[in-house]
This record gives sequence, C-alpha cells and structure tokens, in this order.
Amino acid sequence: MLDVQQARRDTPGCFERVFLDSAGSSLPPTPVVDTVVAHLLREAEVGGYAAANERLGDLAEVKASLGRLFGVDATSVALSDSASRAWTSFFYAVPLEPGDRILLSQAEYAANAVAALQRARATGASVEAIPSDDAGRIDVEALRELLDERVKLVSVVHAPTNGGLVNPVREVADAAHAVGALVLLDACQSVGQLPVSVPELDVDALSGTGRKWVRGPRGTGFLYVRPRLIPDLEPAMIDLHSATWTSPDTYELAPDASRFEMWETDVAARLGLGSAIDYLLDLGIDAVVEAIGYRAEHTRDGLERIPGVTVHDRGAPLDGHDRGAPLDGHDRGAPLSGIVSFTVDGVEPTAVRDALAAQAITVTVSSRSSTLLDMSQRKLDAVVRASPHYFVSPADVDRFLVAVRSLT
Ligand SMILES: *Cc1c(COP(=O)(O)O)cnc(C)c1O
Repeated sequence: MLDVQQARRDTPGCFERVFLDSAGSSLPPTPVVDTVVAHLLREAEVGGYAAANERLGDLAEVKASLGRLFGVDATSVALSDSASRAWTSFFYAVPLEPGDRILLSQAEYAANAVAALQRARATGASVEAIPSDDAGRIDVEALRELLDERVKLVSVVHAPTNGGLVNPVREVADAAHAVGALVLLDACQSVGQLPVSVPELDVDALSGTGRKWVRGPRGTGFLYVRPRLIPDLEPAMIDLHSATWTSPDTYELAPDASRFEMWETDVAARLGLGSAIDYLLDLGIDAVVEAIGYRAEHTRDGLERIPGVTVHDRGAPLDGHDRGAPLDGHDRGAPLSGIVSFTVDGVEPTAVRDALAAQAITVTVSSRSSTLLDMSQRKLDAVVRASPHYFVSPADVDRFLVAVRSLT
C-alpha cells in the first residue's frame, strides 16, 4: 500500500490545487526538486565541470536505476533530453531502403509520425498505420496480415497521449519478430504509471520522458536499446561522446547505448531524473499502478455519471471495465491507463480547461493533431484530459467532478 499522506507531503503543489496533469508535466516530489536545486547551487560555487565530477557516481546510478526499472542492463540505457529525442535517435539509426515499410500505431504520437514521414520521404520507404480493433487497441490479427519481410520497424505506442487505451505490446512484438521487424515502444505515457518490463514486453527499443508519470524534471528522457542490436546501429548524429576520433579520418562509436547520447547535458536535471526514478522504485511500481488505477477509475466512473459529459477512453473490454482482464500482455495492473479523456456537451474543451483552472483544478486539452489518425477516425477535434497521479486524493477527484458537473 502506498502511503498517500507521505506522497502528498512530498508534493507541496498538491495542496494548492487539484492537479490532474501528470500525463503532461507532473509535480516533482521534494527530493527531486532538492537534488536539482542543490546541483545548480553547487555549479554556481565551483563551476559545472567540477560540480559534475563530484557526482560521477550518482550520474552513473541514473542509468542503473532505469535499468532496474526496466529489468535491463545499465549499458543498454541512453539518457536524452526528451522522449522524442530518444525515440528519434533510435528510429533514425534503423537502416531503410526504397520499398521498406514502417508500421505505426493508430494512436501514434505526432512527433513519431512526422519523423517517420520525413524518413520515408528521404529513403523511399512507406509508412502505414496498423488497424485497431473495436476497443481501439492494435488489432494483432490485422497486424499479422500486414507483416512481411519488407517491414523493418513497428512502432507501438504503449499508452497514447489522448486517452486510457493500453496496447497489447507483447503480442505485437511477437508478431513483428516473426518477420524480423524491429519493435520500438513509445513508453512515454506508461513508464511511471504501468509496469514496463523489457524482458516481459520483449521490445527492441523503448523511449520515455522524465516529466510525466516519472515525476522528474523537464528536459529529461531516456532510451533503451537491445544490446545485441547496438553494434549495428549508426546514429544519425554523433559527437565526441557518442564516438571517439581515432585518426584523421576514422572514428569509433561507443560500444554501448551511450552512442545515442551527446556530451553536453543538464547535469542537475539528469541527477533529478535519477532521484525521481529512485523515488518511484522505493514506492514500488505495483503500489503506484494500483493507486493510479483506483483514481482513474474513480474519475472515469464519476464523469460517466454526469449527464452531458462523454468519456472518450477506448481500450476497455466491450463488456465494460473489467479490471481483471490482462489487456496489456501481463496480468498486473488495470486494463486502462491513468489518462481519462472527456468532453462536455456544448462547451469547448479549452473552455472546460480554463473554467477548471479558475477553480485551481489543472487539466489539459489533447487536440487532434497530437494523435491525428485516431482523432480523425473518431471525428474528434479535441478532448479534455485528466490524469490523476497517486498523490491526488479521493477528495480532489470529488472536487473535480463537482466542478465539471457545474459546467453542464
Ligand atoms: C508526451 C509524449 C511524447 C513526447 O514526449 P517528449 O518528452 O515531449 O518528447 C511521446 N509519446 C507520447 C505518447 C506522449 O504522450
């Protein structure tokens, strides 16, 4: 059981407002803030190089902590400044030729999609979306029919940005691997709120961000790459950290995942990310999953009871919210994520957001262009997104529900 009172004491901002935007940029806990601030102050005293040298051990521990979270070796983890930077640094390293195929999720995030389109244009490869089933999840049968040996990469979004869907990652990975395709998991909305075990999911690469469910600082992200793939992957851009200049016309890429990194970094933010991962590991991912699942269900059920409010989350089994169903390939956790999406009849999503903000309730709007394929298919322009983390109290959720009801 998670100690919610302690979690709230560690999150001063949660007393000032009902904070329902951990899918956007969460409130970092005090130990994370303290780590970042202390390092900035130290840089001001001794200079950035000396300050970093004092923390070399802690900096190495950041990757070790991420390795523990994902069940992988630290040498297979690269740090970056965002999930998109992490995703693209792997994606642009995958060799593509004319006629090769890239498959995307129906709920793909815009940053991934535009990168795929750009590379397709440059290489003569094609980009196709994998159809979804009636519940909105990747249709694994349809995927199997799409797959052939020209498919070089399948991009799976674990939990999309615009709703509670959770995709069946392991089934997708097994199908893709049967034809030799690589599987790149966008775990941006799952790391920190759902169990993300690389050995269980069997993906070839995984990207995520610090500022969302992990509760880390902004400007942080991470990438996992399957170790045996690393020697054959040439990053699109390198510097003197990704590679060593070995003779006037030769260089040698770093042997591990650090070939996907560059040298300069916000050291304070990186230490803060390590602190956030350690905070998460201390709480235990199972307790976090349970606490978020409960709050999301409370939020979703409450909204569904308000006349004039429509909940848009897909991914639920067709017979309703069966929490026991293992929809994401493992039998722990809820079938839906902590992202609750909804609209209020006759009120623009941005107006809902602003009216709630006036009552110190923080939600965001997810617009069509962030998940163009999915939103277009569902004829949605925008949805309001409420994403309660474990530090949100049941009373907070009730206050939010009362405020939404007053808008109808
Ligand atoms: C937020 C998000 C991203 C991008 O993360 P950044 O750190 O902003 O690059 C990628 N995928 C999904 C599903 C997201 O929600």
